[in-house]
Amino acid sequence: MFALTFAVAVTVVPWYGFSHGFHASAWIWFVLLLGANGMSITCGYHRLWAHATYEAHPLLKIPYLLFGAMALQNSVLNWAANHRVHHLKIDDRELDPYSARRGFWFSHIGWMLKNYPSGEADFTYVRDLERDRLVSLQHRYYLPLALLMNFGLPALLGWIYGDVLGFLLLSGVLRLVLSHHFTFFINSLAHMWGIQPYTEDNTARDNGVVSLLTYGEGYHNFHHMFAHDYRNGVRWWQWDPSKWFIGAMRWLGLARNLKTVPWFKIQRALLDNPIPPARLQLDATSRARARGGAALAHRRRIRGLLPGRGRLDALREQWLAEAKRAMIERWERSALQHQIKELEYGLQLQYRECGGCARSSASFM
Ligand SMILES: [Zn+2]
Ligand SMILES: [Zn+2]
Repeated sequence: MFALTFAVAVTVVPWYGFSHGFHASAWIWFVLLLGANGMSITCGYHRLWAHATYEAHPLLKIPYLLFGAMALQNSVLNWAANHRVHHLKIDDRELDPYSARRGFWFSHIGWMLKNYPSGEADFTYVRDLERDRLVSLQHRYYLPLALLMNFGLPALLGWIYGDVLGFLLLSGVLRLVLSHHFTFFINSLAHMWGIQPYTEDNTARDNGVVSLLTYGEGYHNFHHMFAHDYRNGVRWWQWDPSKWFIGAMRWLGLARNLKTVPWFKIQRALLDNPIPPARLQLDATSRARARGGAALAHRRRIRGLLPGRGRLDALREQWLAEAKRAMIERWERSALQHQIKELEYGLQLQYRECGGCARSSASFM
């Protein structure tokens, strides 16, 4: 399927373009459907279902499921099961389904071309998603849905605009090939090319260029560090259309409970991620040295912008002390209330035991 669609995209599509020409409407639908596929994978499959970074209304889930099926990357259940293992076993050559340590080709597409044991979806990781009725329905009817969206929808649009073959080639084939490879870059390029501001414990990288192609998923170093944040590009200026889309959906009332990591935790990760000096000294090539130097300058800039680490720790301790004091006060208040209740109860008992006070006891009750 990958080979056939790729071959058609680089031969028949340009041939048809030069010999017959594509109508402007075919190009517009091609862009719209390509975007709908990509965003359904990033906002739906990835951030909503695989990581539960927010909750979505069924009116939003349904298009995610339809256009996600159109992206032809398997059902949500399969996709999320593999992706959760990717996060848990990241870089493990045997267990990570698309381990970047096995090279660009394997992490990009190779892992799907053969039946590797690591590529088998383990559904025990997605028991929570199996309870989602819409997700289960998509899983059960995945094949007819995928066929309908990939052939039926472009053919229908082509019939409406009077160019069925043109639409099948652009909105069908070329859209599918580009959609595939743009998303696959998240598993390959985003683990190989870019900087590692938050952690060097794994291969994930931050890269604005990869983000342009992947609807914001290029800030992958941040994502592997804080997978439960609905954003990947955490700074306001970082190109992450998925986070803007989810924000817009919240504004429309279709998304809620958007999860974010506290600011001080993010800054703490930046400060706690030192560049090993040995690496800077041992790197033989000037390119690697330049890369290391740029990363060091980047970190120095961040340190310059932040209050000193001691100040951050002092603030945290102050906050913890205040929280502790508030808790003790609350406990003391509840202990006092308990004593008052006991006293009242004792008084009631005394009134009851005292026969002469029966009337006043009744009025007390
Ligand atoms: Zn990854
Ligand atoms: Zn992820």
